[in-house]
Amino acid sequence: MKLFETLDTSGHEEVVFCHSKDAGLKAIIAIHNTALGPALGGLRMWPYETEADALEDVLRLSRGMTYKAAVAGLNLGGGKAVIIGDPRQDKSEALFRAFGRFIDSLNGRYITAEDVGIDVNDMEFIFQETENVVGVHQAHGGSGDPSPYTAHGSIQGMKAALQRVFGDEDLSRYSFAIQGAGHVGLHLVKQLRKEGAKVFITDIMEDCVADAVELGAEAVGTDEIYDVEADVFAPCALGAIINEETIPRLKCKIVAGPANNQLANNAAGTELEARGILYAPDYAVNAGGLMNVSIEFEGWNHERALRMTRTIYYNVGKIFKIADRDGIPSWQAADRMAEERIETLGKLKLPFMGKPHRFPGRNKH
Ligand code: NAD
Repeated sequence: MKLFETLDTSGHEEVVFCHSKDAGLKAIIAIHNTALGPALGGLRMWPYETEADALEDVLRLSRGMTYKAAVAGLNLGGGKAVIIGDPRQDKSEALFRAFGRFIDSLNGRYITAEDVGIDVNDMEFIFQETENVVGVHQAHGGSGDPSPYTAHGSIQGMKAALQRVFGDEDLSRYSFAIQGAGHVGLHLVKQLRKEGAKVFITDIMEDCVADAVELGAEAVGTDEIYDVEADVFAPCALGAIINEETIPRLKCKIVAGPANNQLANNAAGTELEARGILYAPDYAVNAGGLMNVSIEFEGWNHERALRMTRTIYYNVGKIFKIADRDGIPSWQAADRMAEERIETLGKLKLPFMGKPHRFPGRNKH
């Protein structure tokens, strides 16, 4: 990979390669954009086949965080980190503390959190070396499991979509087909059932399906979920499930759910809308998890986290307005909303604010 050429296109500010032979650390931190604030994004540990795969992943994921934070209205930039290694075999105190020291050297430009392959115990080691970490244990003032807040935020996004399509957002009047009853999916089922909504559920794990059925959901097969006659299809498991094979099968009027990277490609988002199915962009709908960790620095509490996740209703509504304004599909309107916020607020920072400064070239005496 021609790194600087790639960075020119992707717009990244900084890429840091972290290495410690003694700790067995091979990691990359990518800071995409800090116009809105420090770059926040999770740490992923994965046995990447090649270093180029690791680099590509961290560049892609960090860019995604810039857009997610910008649309969520957070004063955060986008960043992400990857450790090359097998999370089942290669974890150690030294590994995470060595990584924590690299994060600390960035002086707050990058703040880490949990992602695939990383758990709260790994975070504890990083936390011993740097303050620039969120998602630490609640015993340290952390915010704990984000999934109830991600689910709550997703419901706000669904309501905005219902409002646009049906002019009404009373959940009890609509049906939802949920793909995945894991951490977020099960909370979603619980919250939707509490509001009296009809819920269909599928999962590859039978016990997850059973938990959802106990909450009043109706089980359907893993492949059948695409054909269910429901108003909303809510992806809560895998990415790329909105594709040329699944789109013609969908009977819903809305696709809105928390799973990351739902669209196989941008064309899939455009095709959905051409078929009269409204797409609520995933990274706007699932921002509740990011909002939840973002308030850890100022002091996390449940009410505050809930209050923030409610703003997702307005954020998703604004995306639909931009789509109308510019005559573009909602996936593109979300990107545009992020870029507009970064550009306008980035410019605010340009004027010199009159802070006292030193004249190191002058001699006082
Ligand atoms: P999870 O691993 O707890 O749950 C995923 C569930 O999907 C599992 O129960 C799994 O068995 C099921 N699944 C896997 N393949 C499936 C298939 N083919 N058909 C049906 N079910 C299948 O993960 P999670 O934390 O609940 O996250 C779900 C999605 O939401 C992911 O895309 C994640 O990136 C995204 N997300 C989660 C959060 C959060 O707060 N946890 C925040 C933002 C985005």
